[in-house]
Amino acid sequence: MNAVPNPLTRFREFVRVSILASVLGAAHFNSASSCWAGPNETVAKVVETPPTSSTNSFYTGNRAPLLPSLLIKLPIGSITPKGWLRHQLELEAQGMIGRLSEISKWCKFEGNAWADPKGQGHSGWEELPYWLKGYGDLGYVLNDEAIVKSARKWIDATLASQEPDGWFGPRSLQSSLKGKPDLWPHMVMCNVLQSFYEATGDQRVLPFLTKYFRWLNMQQSKNFGAGYWPRIRAGDSIETIYWLYNRTGESRLLDLAKRIHENMQDWTTGVHDWHNVNLAQGFREPGVYYQQDGDGKFLNAAGRNYDTVMDLYGQFPGGGFAGDENCRPGFADPRQGFETCGIVEFMHSFEMLTKISGNPLWADRCEELAFNSLPAALTPDLKALHYLTCPNQVQLDKNNKAPAIQNGGTMFSYSPHEVYRCCQHNVSHGWPYYAEELWLATSDRGLCASLYAASEVTARVGEDATVKISEDTDYPFSDTVTMKLSAPRAATFPLYLRIPRWCSDASVKINGKSVRIKTKPLSYLVLTRTWKNGDIISLQMPKHISVRRWQKNNNAVSVDYGPLTFSLKIGEESRRYGGSDTWPETEVFPTTPWNYGLVLDGKNPARSFKVVNKSGPSSAQPFIPEAAPIELRAKAKKIPAWKQDPLGLVGTLQPSPVTSDQPTESVTLIPMGAARLRITAFPVIGNGKDAREWRTGD
Ligand SMILES: [Zn+2]
Repeated sequence: MNAVPNPLTRFREFVRVSILASVLGAAHFNSASSCWAGPNETVAKVVETPPTSSTNSFYTGNRAPLLPSLLIKLPIGSITPKGWLRHQLELEAQGMIGRLSEISKWCKFEGNAWADPKGQGHSGWEELPYWLKGYGDLGYVLNDEAIVKSARKWIDATLASQEPDGWFGPRSLQSSLKGKPDLWPHMVMCNVLQSFYEATGDQRVLPFLTKYFRWLNMQQSKNFGAGYWPRIRAGDSIETIYWLYNRTGESRLLDLAKRIHENMQDWTTGVHDWHNVNLAQGFREPGVYYQQDGDGKFLNAAGRNYDTVMDLYGQFPGGGFAGDENCRPGFADPRQGFETCGIVEFMHSFEMLTKISGNPLWADRCEELAFNSLPAALTPDLKALHYLTCPNQVQLDKNNKAPAIQNGGTMFSYSPHEVYRCCQHNVSHGWPYYAEELWLATSDRGLCASLYAASEVTARVGEDATVKISEDTDYPFSDTVTMKLSAPRAATFPLYLRIPRWCSDASVKINGKSVRIKTKPLSYLVLTRTWKNGDIISLQMPKHISVRRWQKNNNAVSVDYGPLTFSLKIGEESRRYGGSDTWPETEVFPTTPWNYGLVLDGKNPARSFKVVNKSGPSSAQPFIPEAAPIELRAKAKKIPAWKQDPLGLVGTLQPSPVTSDQPTESVTLIPMGAARLRITAFPVIGNGKDAREWRTGD
């Protein structure tokens, strides 16, 4: 495994690493202050977290007594995604999410309890809000009028359904938990309304939410601990409450948040529930509440929860963990799966913790899931998905995999239909939320490039200047990010560039001239200067091969190249087994061998791989095997005794090194996100004393 510094020690460290430099080499500085000598010069420094020293009044950050925001989300619409990310969103719009009302009964407007002024009707649970949460944002980030209009119909209906006491939506939920309210679906619908407000500024939203939370405040405290899903996920409500408090200042909201925190599932003292989606969204709750309490133990608890889960069940690449409904002792092999809901909720948690803690490690973790796990959870046309994505997954058939996989029934094959009911709706927010978090505002009125992707951002900075930055890159497939600034007049502000954990030698040029500064992984490079129209920032983040060794998973290895993890390229044959011509359900079968162990250079494993960059521009959809912009060549030997089990699952790993009498072959690895079939955690071939034969029958 790579050495990831413990994030806990970083939280609340606002100490800046005082490296100063000048782009022109004129070192006029004599202390680690933020002054500079002239208008054409750049102050460059490296910081571990952004500061909280001043206030950015352009954007809505935390209002006292909440802790000041380190990084602030820009209003939806400030960022226009481009490149491959935009294409994912366009495919999402044309695919399952954009057209889900055609195939999901929960998204039928007529007779829907979420659309009825009296909250009567069908489908009054999580599915509609799950879908609408991403569907609306998809419309906003793409500026797609048809989607915005269609989402608006649902939102208008929701806003028209409020009772005088504040309750809204399905009335049945008010007493569906043995007479107590089921508060969970409303948490999701609140997210829908938050985005709607950010995108439109609609005047109905804040009074509406205020009224709802007054209703919630009338509830007995024990109701916040009622029911399985609401009790565990109530941190979602706390996040919405802070969002609303920051916009209204109603102090009773903070009392409510405290009461919810104290009566919901306890996430502060450790992990007490092992459902994968609960973990993916619940683990962060103390980190959210930290903003109100201010005690670092709460932020530490979120990091510790993450470490606890990943240490036990995340011992393989891709950024997820083994939770093929629940995490189960004895089921941590890379053939175990991570639910698609878990992928997108984990990403959302990481996006929140990036802003709350300022720790760039959370953004790294978000990228890891986004690049390596989310794309392959869906078909390349985003018209179907599966429930479980596994690092080692060599066949996606429709048949039952229980008890090796916890859930019985179809879990691996691709379907747009209700067999994957929760993920079918909830996957909607993965890419739109990601696109909204590419750029963040900083407390010192600067801008932060937090997640890298081709995009355009327009934001207010410095002494109230409006600037536009066009970010041009094929990242994560390219090493270079070029940013071009447009500004009607010169503006002085800091630009924060996140340096990922895997990048030890990042460098930057401004208008073609190198900035003399030593960057470091897991930090922000801050460039402060009087920026002018046409300034160009060129950030180089050279990728290198690294090999992670998973000692807790039979000493298997995985291969990374920058933020991309690589998988064995396996021939994929899709076969339709159900659905319609428009909405097919497909199985995917391997057409080439997959049972390889890697032959590694014993002294320097990273040398075992040759990087092949495909020439020409990247495909619009790079997450398919044929279009993968980068391939790796590796040496491997077959392990004949490594087979699929009777359920069709890849056999579990056995301890490496492993002997093989097979010839050495050259194999191709492709980005994990492009591989619908894959081996990603590989056995290692060896011939020394410690090498063992692969036992048959496993
Ligand atoms: Zn799901």
